[in-house]
Amino acid sequence: MNMYCIECPNGCFMEITDYEGKITVTGNKCKKGYVYALQEITAPMRTVCSTVKTCFRNIPRLPVRTSGSIPKEKIFEVMNEINKITVSENVSIGDIIINNVLNTGVDIIATSNTYES
Ligand code: SF4
Repeated sequence: MNMYCIECPNGCFMEITDYEGKITVTGNKCKKGYVYALQEITAPMRTVCSTVKTCFRNIPRLPVRTSGSIPKEKIFEVMNEINKITVSENVSIGDIIINNVLNTGVDIIATSNTYES
């Protein structure tokens, strides 16, 4: 399997081989790449960026993101939770919109204000 490491702008192209359960990673310039490759092939994680509805006419959608990474297979379930939300009070950047979404230990937070600062 081949993949690019996305841990830094170098974007190392890595080759991952699994020979009888022994994982070998080549092409990475540092240990972060090895850790990233192992994570990707065992339990891939992703951050999610999206928007939620608001009841403000001038800002009908508010940008949000996860406060950390969630398991890749939970993305659609998390998106369903995000789509249930309508923000009805002013919020600021960093405010929690959904606390501990789906018990992942990660919050959905605002990445914009609902008002002009
Ligand atoms: S392996 Fe290291 S140097 Fe290469 S992209 Fe990943 S973090 Fe950057």
